[in-house]
Amino acid sequence: MSAHVLDPIGTATVPSMLIGAHVRAGKGLVPALQHGADIGADAVQIFTQSPRMWKPSQYSDDVLAAYRAAQAEHPSVQATFCHATYLINLASPDPELAAKSRSCLTANLHTADGMGADGLVLHIGSHRGSGFETALPAVAEALVGALDEVDADVESCPILLENAAGAGDTVGRSFEELAQVIDAAGGDERLGVCLDTQHLWASGVPFATMDEADALVALIEATVGMDRLRCMHLNDSKVEFGANKDRHENLGDGTIGPDALAALLGHPALQDIPAILEVPGEGDGPREQDVAGARAVLEAGLALRS
Ligand SMILES: [Zn+2]
Ligand SMILES: [Zn+2]
Repeated sequence: MSAHVLDPIGTATVPSMLIGAHVRAGKGLVPALQHGADIGADAVQIFTQSPRMWKPSQYSDDVLAAYRAAQAEHPSVQATFCHATYLINLASPDPELAAKSRSCLTANLHTADGMGADGLVLHIGSHRGSGFETALPAVAEALVGALDEVDADVESCPILLENAAGAGDTVGRSFEELAQVIDAAGGDERLGVCLDTQHLWASGVPFATMDEADALVALIEATVGMDRLRCMHLNDSKVEFGANKDRHENLGDGTIGPDALAALLGHPALQDIPAILEVPGEGDGPREQDVAGARAVLEAGLALRS
């Protein structure tokens, strides 16, 4: 999935991380893909349905097939990720909400798989005080249940568990917790991980220097394993390090800053992992200049390592 560009000598290829953007599907799925291309994104992320409503999207098989065809033929956008509904809470101690969450996850995964997405990014949810250990079996069962029901596989559409910023009683606030969730699901191969840089920063994991970025990659390897890491969310932060709040900022305007993001993005172990912007832009999401800015940060990171 990595783009390859000729090196300055022209004799070999060097891998270059895909820089992507979250795009809105209000005008339809294929127009969302086209918007990604228009702003220069190598990859897109799309909500499978309205992120704050339970009602599933009614995409026909034809619409999903048209998206797959558009993606396969698209010259510049090389990968699609989907993001699941925010209302889903697989860790809820409320049986009604837990059941609703499970069927909503299945509907999201059905759409993502139908789009041929490279993964469905999911926030696991919050145990609301019932305890991580207590919530774990139900979370694992819901994940495997949805994957079985949709019959998604690791080649088609894995579920990518996103690290949480650590607010309240969220599940998945560390790579150790994500590893425990995956273990509880029997190490199901259809489960992967999405690393959000803002959530990581807010949860108090440093990556501002090359040594810290190295330590983070070692931590990922030792917990979930690098082969589970399928995408990154590339965001600066409106809140301070360790503030445990999910608040994205445009790259360079936040508390993380371009130098810290460069230290991480330049890491050689991450070059095959697409990095998707979920930044506000001017309120409508990532713009062309945000994608270009992210590429400049990546280049600065690669220069640090060369
Ligand atoms: Zn997310
Ligand atoms: Zn994210």
